Amino acid sequence: MDRRILDKIEKVVGKDGYSTDSAVLYIYGFDASIYHHTPDVVIQPRTTEQVSEIMKIANEEKIPVTPRGGGTGLCGSAVPLKGGIVLAMQKMNKIKNISVADLWVDVEVGVVYDDLNKELSKYGYFFPPSPGSAEACMIGGMVANNASGMRAVKYGATRDFVLGLTFVKADGEIVRAGTRTIKDSSGYQLARLMCGSEGQLGVITEVTLKLTTKPKKSASCICAFNDVASAGKCITDLIAKPLIPASCELMDSLAVFAVNKARGNPLPDCDSLIIVEVDGETDEVVERDLRTVAEVAEANGAVSVKPSHDKTEIARWTDARKSVMTSLSVLKPGHVSVSLADDMGVPVSKVPEAVEAFAQIAKKHNVTVATYGHASDGNLHTKMMLDPYSRDDWERGIAAVTEIFEKCIELGGTVSGEHGIGIAKALDFIKERGTNLKTYKEIKRAMDPNNILNPGKTFDYEGDPLSGLRYPCRECQ
Ligand SMILES: Cc1cc2nc3c(=O)[nH]c(=O)nc-3n(C[C@H](O)[C@H](O)[C@H](O)COP(=O)(O)OP(=O)(O)OC[C@H]3O[C@@H](n4cnc5c(N)ncnc54)[C@H](O)[C@@H]3O)c2cc1C
Repeated sequence: MDRRILDKIEKVVGKDGYSTDSAVLYIYGFDASIYHHTPDVVIQPRTTEQVSEIMKIANEEKIPVTPRGGGTGLCGSAVPLKGGIVLAMQKMNKIKNISVADLWVDVEVGVVYDDLNKELSKYGYFFPPSPGSAEACMIGGMVANNASGMRAVKYGATRDFVLGLTFVKADGEIVRAGTRTIKDSSGYQLARLMCGSEGQLGVITEVTLKLTTKPKKSASCICAFNDVASAGKCITDLIAKPLIPASCELMDSLAVFAVNKARGNPLPDCDSLIIVEVDGETDEVVERDLRTVAEVAEANGAVSVKPSHDKTEIARWTDARKSVMTSLSVLKPGHVSVSLADDMGVPVSKVPEAVEAFAQIAKKHNVTVATYGHASDGNLHTKMMLDPYSRDDWERGIAAVTEIFEKCIELGGTVSGEHGIGIAKALDFIKERGTNLKTYKEIKRAMDPNNILNPGKTFDYEGDPLSGLRYPCRECQ
């Protein structure tokens, strides 16, 4: 990048607030997706005012800006597709104020999810979404992706906790949106607009989150089945009871097999399973719900049902579930698990049909696909095993993914339950949200007329999904 512009940046953040070192640029070209693109400069602001000054420079000079939190996104949304500035927010990491009486906490966007909950637990409260990346993802990234996770079925997604936030517009204007009150019907819900905005409408710098009490008691039950359809039916029957579990994780046969092989059999040997967590204020409520889970599982032909209060045992199940992504590599030597059709949502009642359809599609395209996910809210994850050196593998993978997404849309679902769109799902998102695209573009052009904020992604993506892969596929270049 031109020295003249770097001098302007240095005036705002100081010498240690930015870097053009090639190793730094390389690292900040990744998130956890399949893509990579090198930025021209990485800037680490410490205040909202610094972000505002940087945005004024970028807007004047028409330099692309990609905001970044923990870089754990799985769709390439934090990859600087058009180069320019990566605005890495990790130094804005203060928990500023907690008002238990008013039920809110004010945080800077670089606070890591688990660190926030460690602090909130001192007061008996928590911020529930629980993404699988809880140890590394940051509040700004969670808001910008509207992240959620295992507990969304009972407690909601990130957007459900955002009372207000501060963001910096493309031209540097600082906007405080929303309130610190539990209710707010004053005008357009601008804070909500920023949820899921993927760094395209502004740079979020501070967030006010609503607090929720942490349930005092919880227990889990692992239920094994001979077929995934019965596991899926068990989930819909549970909800019909009615019983909303704190979380309910589904794993298909490939996911169970891979985890047992890679991690020394932490799970029952079965075709498919669900791990159901129930919580509440008293032992009686938890016991009652645990009994209901066991009864419904048995009525759906479960081959084994194991309730547990043992925290070590439950942690072993949870770790096993969280290790699906990494365990899959044991399935096929020379193949890696990649995030292609990674995260979709279908109506809960359609989960069994969706999982069976994914298996058929995988067979048709001769690719290995494992399915698992937060099934009680209809959010499924599929991981695909590919030889990353083979263009043919990537092409069959993309063909399968396209059909998987088409199936989800046909079932009344969406291409993203929680990970967002970025690059990886842009073309499928364009198909899904056809009637929204004009409005999306109007909002984007109004808030960012020079198109500098995270440009070229989601509805504006026009590339070839096989370009810019971070894998060494020479045949794909
Ligand atoms: C192992 C693993 C498990 C995961 N499990 C889950 C899960 O269960 N649920 C889930 O929802 N996701 C999950 N994810 C995906 C990802 O962790 C989440 O979407 C997370 O919220 C991203 O946060 P981040 O701080 O890493 O954001 P990044 O990846 O850095 O950025 C994500 C997006 O937010 C934008 N952004 C970041 N900060 C700001 C800001 N301050 N202002 C404006 N825009 C900003 C970026 O430009 C980008 O578009 C998982 C990822 C991994 C690797």
